[in-house]
Amino acid sequence: MRLIFLGPPGAGKGTQAQILQRRFGAKQVSTGDILRDNRSRGTELGKLAESYMNSGALVPDEVIIKMIEAELDTLPDGFIMDGFPRTVAQAEAFDCLLESKDLTLDAVVLFEADRATLIARLTGRWTNPRNGRPYNAATNPPRVPGIDDEDGGPLVQRDDDKLETVTKRLDVYERQTSPLVEYYRHSGKLVQVDALAPVDDVTKEIVAKIGAPVEQNAAG
Ligand code: ADP
Ligand code: AMP
Repeated sequence: MRLIFLGPPGAGKGTQAQILQRRFGAKQVSTGDILRDNRSRGTELGKLAESYMNSGALVPDEVIIKMIEAELDTLPDGFIMDGFPRTVAQAEAFDCLLESKDLTLDAVVLFEADRATLIARLTGRWTNPRNGRPYNAATNPPRVPGIDDEDGGPLVQRDDDKLETVTKRLDVYERQTSPLVEYYRHSGKLVQVDALAPVDDVTKEIVAKIGAPVEQNAAG
């Protein structure tokens, strides 16, 4: 299964990608997680990306496209792109890349939510820095505050989830990423889901709308 999750920061893309990758075996590819991992390891890529990420701006297209190109060869069972593409230039480059490998997209899932909800979700988000799993102090709390339910390690609040950076990121989404809605509508692959619904209901709506195949790993 090859999917793109499209939608503003805080809409629940990472939450759903983590659930569906377990159910269907397609790997979640979060460009934000890859960049944060590089930043914490102090790689050249991480150093280059840092100032953009801290300010809520997008990392330059050519850097992201090169990163995805390397990633695509490691995804034999499909992918769920979470946070990529984020500009029309990235989407066009991705189309070329897929075509060169004879791969097609199954669907682009658009997560819809209002700005006030997104701000509340992001400023209440706690993240497992080891695998990107998100929790929320209000809507989806861990069993023990500050601790991941599964690996027992600490959760952190991302620096860019501060109110000031959140509003900047939402503006960046409107300006640079929302044109992708029309881009993918033209391809006939776009499906929309109500991202305001509870987590389980969003999962059900996605599964119904993408016409999901037989589950590969229902136990996980
Ligand atoms: P994104 O990957 O789109 O930025 P996340 O999946 O990290 O969004 O979710 C943002 C925040 O909202 C997290 O704190 C998450 O726990 C919470 N969240 C995700 N989906 C829902 C939902 N359907 N209802 C309520 N809270 C949610
Ligand atoms: P995210 O984890 O998706 O919220 O992304 C966090 C930050 O990483 C963004 O605010 C950008 O600075 C950067 N980033 C992630 N994905 C991309 C992308 N596809 N294009 C450009 N910048 C990105």
